[in-house]
Amino acid sequence: MAITEKITDTTVPTFWEGAIPVRYVYTFGLAGEKFFRTVKDKGTFLATYCEECDISFVPPKVYCDRCFKELDSYIDVGTLGYVETFTLSFRNMDGSEKEIPKILAMVRIGDTDGGLIHYLEGLEIDEIAIGMPVKAVLKPKSQRKGSIEDIIGFGPIK
Ligand SMILES: [Zn+2]
Repeated sequence: MAITEKITDTTVPTFWEGAIPVRYVYTFGLAGEKFFRTVKDKGTFLATYCEECDISFVPPKVYCDRCFKELDSYIDVGTLGYVETFTLSFRNMDGSEKEIPKILAMVRIGDTDGGLIHYLEGLEIDEIAIGMPVKAVLKPKSQRKGSIEDIIGFGPIK
């Protein structure tokens, strides 16, 4: 459909093909920077905890999203977690097809109420179960840059 064409039937979906260039800068924020700096330097994960609501956040948040209390103490929660759910991904971020499908999982970290969505590594799909313990696989310290890519994924605990 061309932009000059007149719409006469509003019940028929229409569309215009095209691309919208989008530029953005992603900032971690205060808690995100502390989280990724700790992954880079210490190889562990941080959480924040709200005593009022008895809830812990991984990745950490600077405010509790339930009571809006400022959260300024960070807890080292390690890199162990549990598979909350998982799926098989057949597409790359740009929509192209992956040569080999990857397993993505929501991993709850330790005893916290939060977690990370990341790849599962070193496991076949039929080996995975909800509640299965896993451990973060990080790049060697010398290769970490302070980003989500410092985490290769989560793998089995040996
Ligand atoms: Zn709270």
